[in-house]
Parts: sequence; structure tokens; C-alpha cells
Amino acid sequence: MTLRMYNTLTRKKEEFVPLEPGKVKMYVCGPTVYNYIHIGNGRPVIFFDVVRRFLESQNYEVTYITNFTDVDDKMIRKAEEMAVTVPELAETFIAAFLEDIQTLGVHDATMNPRVTENIQEIIDFIAALVDKDFAYEARGDVYYRTTKFAEYGKLSHQNLEELQYGIRIEVDDRKENPQDFVLWKAAKPGEIYWDSPWGQGRPGWHIECSAMVRKYLGETIDIHGGGQDLTFPHHECEIAQTEAVTGHPMANYWLHNAFLNIDNEKMSKSLGNGILIRDLVKQIKPEVFRFFMLSAHYRNPLNFSDESLKQAANALERIQNAHDNLKHRLVTASGTGEIEAALTERIAATASQFVEKMNDDFNTPDAITAVFDLVAEANLYLQQERVNAAALHMFLDQLQAFDQTLGILSKQADELLDEEIEQLIVDRTEARKSKNWARADEIRDLLTEKGIFLEDTPQGIRWRRK
Ligand code: AMP
Ligand code: ZN
Repeated sequence: MTLRMYNTLTRKKEEFVPLEPGKVKMYVCGPTVYNYIHIGNGRPVIFFDVVRRFLESQNYEVTYITNFTDVDDKMIRKAEEMAVTVPELAETFIAAFLEDIQTLGVHDATMNPRVTENIQEIIDFIAALVDKDFAYEARGDVYYRTTKFAEYGKLSHQNLEELQYGIRIEVDDRKENPQDFVLWKAAKPGEIYWDSPWGQGRPGWHIECSAMVRKYLGETIDIHGGGQDLTFPHHECEIAQTEAVTGHPMANYWLHNAFLNIDNEKMSKSLGNGILIRDLVKQIKPEVFRFFMLSAHYRNPLNFSDESLKQAANALERIQNAHDNLKHRLVTASGTGEIEAALTERIAATASQFVEKMNDDFNTPDAITAVFDLVAEANLYLQQERVNAAALHMFLDQLQAFDQTLGILSKQADELLDEEIEQLIVDRTEARKSKNWARADEIRDLLTEKGIFLEDTPQGIRWRRK
């Protein structure tokens, strides 16, 4: 089974061949940290987390880098509005972002580099472009000379003439061509700045990713990701910068997620229909939101509505219930007897179906169908009066393996219910009566592990939670 992914660059699903066997270098453009993130921003955050988790489940060692844009025009404006400094603003919203994505069950990135920590690397990158004539200085600004990079437009599949046609007429006599983009911006009085060969200023937006990718991952990486709006101009410009300097492809696979809409409308400031992640998770479980995100293929638009969330909550509940029922039955099931071979095979079939679907350009909705097949098998099995602990373990292990990739099961610790504890105490007393010391010890260990303490009293055994 080979992994295939849709590459925006070639517009084809391609077999994934990493630069180095067993390793994946992955970069996903991160947020500008001037605000709390909204549910739309959650889509790339969750999708690329799942890509990374799936690659790890397939035994790849993944280096996952996602940056913070902690200085730019929007940051400067917002800091002014809030009467704080740009670094103070950044600290606030970086902390908020990390908190929000942790709530969403997103695994920590290998590193979260920031623009302000990489100014020297950015200046060096721009200097190299100027040296090679791919960039020019104009009154303290530095611009990229797009006409010099023959492949400009290759990612978004447009040529320079088309771009010229589509571009807003900007009155900027500093640029040689309207489609040239800024690499370094001269500081206006009172703005945050760094010294550079072109005077005091700050980096333009696109250059940071070229500089950070090269510094933290190298000249060519495996996977570069982001929302589809980043294809042009952001990623197009990253390619132009990096490939002009290194002469090598910036990334072998370019992945872009489609947008999340609200009630079939674009989320926008003017419509005022944005919802923050931190507000949403006060209303619904974060796992439901994750499940909802993964219920559509990442290249298809996804519609957020009360109805679609309700459906997601119901579907996820069926998976969670199966999981909880398996766990609860395990408490009182004993023994490790034989498992029927046909059952083992059916469980294994759901596992290969899951991988097959994920291998097909990360088809999460179809992979979730495989999870439901497992749930259906488990529910059928649980209808039996006598169940085998080994079989229950097998179901649970498989469900947990799926969850390693999807991250949709409740993170709340499993607690024993009161009646389960009481049943276990009865079982233990019986086990001791019949001199089944192994079973009696097994039960005592299980209770200890769950923080339940037993006390022998003249009235019988009492129990309490730690
Ligand atoms: P921004 O804050 O607009 O720079 O966006 C940060 C990330 O979220 C980028 O990868 C965007 O492509 C992505 N993004 C923004 N809005 C949406 C949306 N409604 N649906 C999906 N992705 C989005
Ligand atoms: Zn970027």
C-alpha cells in the first residue's frame, strides 16, 4: 500500500516518496498572532495534525515546523489599537493560540519559530536575492523582481500576463512591476524596526517562511501545507524566493485545505459570522469539532451549521459508546482464551481499510467508515453473554490505534462506575473463596490502578476513591 497525495504543484495525486527513507520534513504556515483563532483557522490546524499523526502511525519520523508571524502591518495596527507593544501583543496571542490548539488535541509542533527570532536569517536571505539580481532596493524597501523568475505562477497555474491582468492597480512608483512583492519594508516613524543593509525596517510577509524552512528543515522539504488561499500569492512567492537562491525545489508536495463556511456563507468580518475556537469549545466538546472537520475530505469545502455539528456529535457518540462499553466489559471479563480466527480477521480488515483510505490522499471520511465497521463488529460482540478479555483488548487496541491518527475519543480519564467497583469486590471475594488467587490479585491491582482503596471492616469490605 503506497501513500498518495494531491500535489497542488502538479495537480495530480502522486505517490509519496520522502527525501530520506523513513523521515518526513513538513512545514505548515502558521498564524499572524494578532487575534484569537476562528473555527476556519481550525481546519488547517486539525487537518495537518492528522496528516502528521498518520505519517507517524506509518512509522515515519516527522519533523513538523509551523511558524508564528509575530510582526507585520496587522500586528503593528492592532498593537497600537490595544496600546501595547508588538512583542506584548505577540506573547498574548501566541499563548492563546497554543492553548486553543491544545484544547483541540493538536500535538505539539517540533518547533514554532517566530519571525522576530529569525531577522538575521531573513536579512541574509534577502541579501542573497539582491546579489543574484532577483531583488532590488527602492528607497529603503526591497522588492522581488518577479519577471526574473521564469517559473513565477507555477504553483497557482497562472502566468505573469494573467497575473498582471488580475492585479489591483497600485500606485507605487517604487516597484518596477505591479506584481513585484515586498521583501523588506522601510519603517515609518514610531514603528518597530531592525537595522539592515537597506536601513531600518522589517521583513515583508512571504520571506519569513523561505528563511525559516531553509534554517530549520533545509533547502528542499517533503511537504508544505496551508489553507488554499495561501497558494497565491504567499506560497508562490515562497517558491520564487527559495528556488531563486537555492536552485532546488522548495517542497516536493504542496498540500492545501479547502475552506470552512458558516451556514453556506464565507466567514468574513463584514458578515460578522466568525466564531472563535475558544467560544465554540464552551458549547461543544473539542472532539466533536475535530470529528466534524474530518468528516469531509480536506479538499472539499465544509459547511459549519448547527445541523452538521449535531450529526457529528451523534456519530461520534456511537464510537465513544462502543469504546466505553468495551472498557466496562473488560472490568469484569477475565481470562485470555482463544479468539475466533474469523473475528481477528474482521478486525484486521478494518485496520487495512483505514490505512488504505488514509493512503488515498488522506480520505478521512472514508477512513471514518472503517472505524464504524469496527464499532459495528464490537457492538455485535458485546451482545454475547460471555465475552473474552483478549477479544475486548483486541477491539480496544484497534480503536485506540485509529484514535492515534484521528484524536476523536474523549480525553477524560476512564473512571470506574460505583456499580463496577462493587461488582469487582464481589468477584474478588468469590475468587478468594475458590482459592483463585491470581484472579483475586488481578482485581486488586486493577482497583489500585484506578485509585480505589479497599478496607476490611467487621461489616465487610469498604471502598473509597483516592
Ligand atoms: P489567516 O489568519 O487568515 O492568515 O489564516 C491562517 C490559516 O487558516 C491559513 O492557513 C488559512 O488558509 C487558514 N484559513 C483561514 N480561514 C479559513 C477558513 N474559513 N477555512 C479554512 N481555512 C482557513
Ligand atoms: Zn508561509
